[in-house]
Amino acid sequence: MEKRVIRDPIHGYIHISEQLIWDLINTREFQRLRRIRQLGSTPVVFPSGTHTRMLHSLGVYEIARRMLEEVDDLRETLNEREKLRVQAAALLHDVGHFPFSHSFEAIMSCSHEDYTIRIIKGPSEIRNVLDEVDKAFADEVAAIIRHTHPNTILSQIISSQLDADRLDYLLRDSYFTGTAYGRVDLDRILRTMRVRNNVLALKQSSIYTVENYIMARYHMYWQVYFHPNSRSFDSILKSLFLRLKDLYEMDPGIADEYPMYRALLEKQWLSNDEFFLLDDETCSYSFNLMRNSSDKVLQDLAVRIMDRHLFEYTNSEHENELIETCLRKGLDPRYYVIKDHQRQIPYLPYQGYNESDSIWMAMSDGGLRELSEVSTVVGSLMDINEQDERVFYPEELMK
Ligand code: ZN
Repeated sequence: MEKRVIRDPIHGYIHISEQLIWDLINTREFQRLRRIRQLGSTPVVFPSGTHTRMLHSLGVYEIARRMLEEVDDLRETLNEREKLRVQAAALLHDVGHFPFSHSFEAIMSCSHEDYTIRIIKGPSEIRNVLDEVDKAFADEVAAIIRHTHPNTILSQIISSQLDADRLDYLLRDSYFTGTAYGRVDLDRILRTMRVRNNVLALKQSSIYTVENYIMARYHMYWQVYFHPNSRSFDSILKSLFLRLKDLYEMDPGIADEYPMYRALLEKQWLSNDEFFLLDDETCSYSFNLMRNSSDKVLQDLAVRIMDRHLFEYTNSEHENELIETCLRKGLDPRYYVIKDHQRQIPYLPYQGYNESDSIWMAMSDGGLRELSEVSTVVGSLMDINEQDERVFYPEELMK
């Protein structure tokens, strides 16, 4: 096919020269990602961070494609069949994402990875496109995403400590939120990437680039992803869905009022068709409806979400006190006193699971060493185990 390009503010162009990739982009399941924001609740803090999962997925594909072309060890050792599978896996790695990112996951019994695999395996338009190449294709793409493919390097490209996924989301999320923490030197990472002992590694001379990457990731987590106000929004969202579930248990008739959640309320697994309908726009519409609910709790939580009346937060040692006040005021603390705990370790190397849990440096003597042994900066960061526990509550409670 004639080479196509898609404009992108992070990579300049996304290059597509395989018909398969173009056909996958044009499936309804991939197009759904246009209606799922990458950062869920983050725009309540960083209003410009409204980019979609579709943009990010195209970006991960582009970085993976560049790795396969620009990293000599990958270009020369992988065959065309493997390269095509890696590119498809990069493009599809997030197709099972829910609206509102991980806060929605908290109310589902299955993770977005589970749905990603189900959509790839079908029935789905994606499965039909993959089957046209050959019948084993879908299983191989799923194996790359699940880290069960016999050639482990294929999975490392998409998901490891320094992979196409993380590189794209750090660059993209920092660009779109307007923060400067996530800027990593992608060109240099690609230039100095090597394969040694079937492990993706960076040349020793890239040590400062890698240190910068670790710091970028660490800062993005605390400054953007774990921002207390977006966690506050997530707490309200979780309370809203908990209330909806409770109401359904009292009277299943509530599913008639919110038919978009019927399948979710009635069973554990959604079919691919039901999953397809779940997106940001569906959720926004449901909040609009809930605004007029006769249930005061559901109504209050929906108004809070839509009008950004966030919960306040305080140190978790005040939890009991808040619960007591809540009960005294006739409110149910299950919806109005929400504890949230976040933890981020800047870098935690190889713990005996697999190679992709560490960052490896290709030393000038030909050997391979784990990052924290080579970098004193990263070595000293390993003692940091930052935790943050807060309780979120409506400000009226403390009045
Ligand atoms: Zn991703």
